[in-house]
Amino acid sequence: MTRTLVVVGHGMAGHRLAEEVLTGDRDGGWRVVVLAEEPRPAYDRVALSSLLDGATPGDLGLAGRDFLTDPRLELRLGTTVTDVDRQARTVTCSDGARVGYDALVLATGSRPFVPPVPGHGLPGCFVYRTVEDIAAIRAAAVPGLDAVVIGGGLLGLEAAGGLRALGMRPHVVEMAPRLMALQVDEGGGRVLAGAVEELGVRVHCGAVLRSVDAGADGRVRGVTLDDGTVVEAPLVVFSAGVRPRDDLAGPLGLARGERGGFLVDDRCRTRDERVWAVGECAAVQGRCHGMAAPGYRMAESVAGQLLRGDGPPFPGADTSARLKLLGVEVASFGDAHTRTEGAMEFIRDDLESGTYAKVVLAPDGRTLLGGVLAGDARSYPALRALVGLELSASPDQLLRSGHE
Ligand SMILES: Cc1cc2nc3c(=O)[nH]c(=O)nc-3n(C[C@H](O)[C@H](O)[C@H](O)COP(=O)(O)OP(=O)(O)OC[C@H]3O[C@@H](n4cnc5c(N)ncnc54)[C@H](O)[C@@H]3O)c2cc1C
Repeated sequence: MTRTLVVVGHGMAGHRLAEEVLTGDRDGGWRVVVLAEEPRPAYDRVALSSLLDGATPGDLGLAGRDFLTDPRLELRLGTTVTDVDRQARTVTCSDGARVGYDALVLATGSRPFVPPVPGHGLPGCFVYRTVEDIAAIRAAAVPGLDAVVIGGGLLGLEAAGGLRALGMRPHVVEMAPRLMALQVDEGGGRVLAGAVEELGVRVHCGAVLRSVDAGADGRVRGVTLDDGTVVEAPLVVFSAGVRPRDDLAGPLGLARGERGGFLVDDRCRTRDERVWAVGECAAVQGRCHGMAAPGYRMAESVAGQLLRGDGPPFPGADTSARLKLLGVEVASFGDAHTRTEGAMEFIRDDLESGTYAKVVLAPDGRTLLGGVLAGDARSYPALRALVGLELSASPDQLLRSGHE
């Protein structure tokens, strides 16, 4: 007998799940209904900024023709799930339609966090999450004028790069004392800020947004920071972190993690054995993961459970990353913040070339625990592969590896 899988959200994780189930279901055991709030099938959100560099939304599409024309799939775009009845095993959509399920997977992602400062909702304020957000920012951009990005993390710097590509002069306002505080240490943050400023991006670290200010036309005129600094700009992008979209936890009567997200076990299952959560909305054993790869691992685990009755547990997430932001290379891996007790640091800080490298060694002085690279991350692949191993060369030699 055919069973119905309902997937709420057609983002990166929801798509991976639906695709895995349809590909792996050789005997037609599942019909898959995907209910998607956005007006288009899943796309590569990671590559969103490429829309400001000549790509079209079609270039970013994740769903191929085979997927979209599969007769076992029903994809309803522009459809938000507003309610779930676990007893009746139905979901209710924004258009009033009800869909029954045998298995339900929540893949609702996150929403950008907008600090509730005065003026945060004025025309001229944007977030940076969807194709529509990018289109709206493009339409509002005024080349030659200043723009403000609230948040100096990975996404904030990406948004600043996007504004720069639109000919604007971005300012980045970051509450923490350095850019990308989660990934890099003080030295890495300094090199990153220097390189970014050279590209014409003004960096305000340790700065708190007090208000977004309106002009006489009722639109954004600029922002005021806590120290009284005023930046005149007609456009503000909030990129101050995300919050899991777990609104359905209430109607479902399911628990949330301490910092939000649908609380699930290591196989992404809620306490209802027919309901799972994957991607950024899932608090796996209490913890949410804000990157694409962990969401894919979750989707694969749940697909395995649906197809074979068992799937691998979520293996946890590796937070190592090598990024090119505004043309500046940054990488962080393992114990980048030297949190291991007794760990030692080896630092090469080259002011002339604007590069910074740190490797963190275990108290034995030989085992590599992690590191930070800024300005030049060519040694990242070699170093990352050595985490947890005893080094056969000196840290200095290692930092040169990958440069030849
Ligand atoms: C600009 C940008 C750059 C990024 N760069 C990177 C990167 O370099 N590396 C990386 O790993 N990650 C990156 N990310 C993060 C990555 O995109 C996310 O981790 C990933 O998209 C999460 O997938 P998801 O399916 O959980 O959520 P999403 O992709 O957000 O999908 C969730 C979907 O569910 C829909 N939805 C929500 N509620 C409902 C409802 N009630 N009914 C129906 N539909 C609903 C939403 O509209 C959305 O379409 C980036 C993100 C952005 C915005």
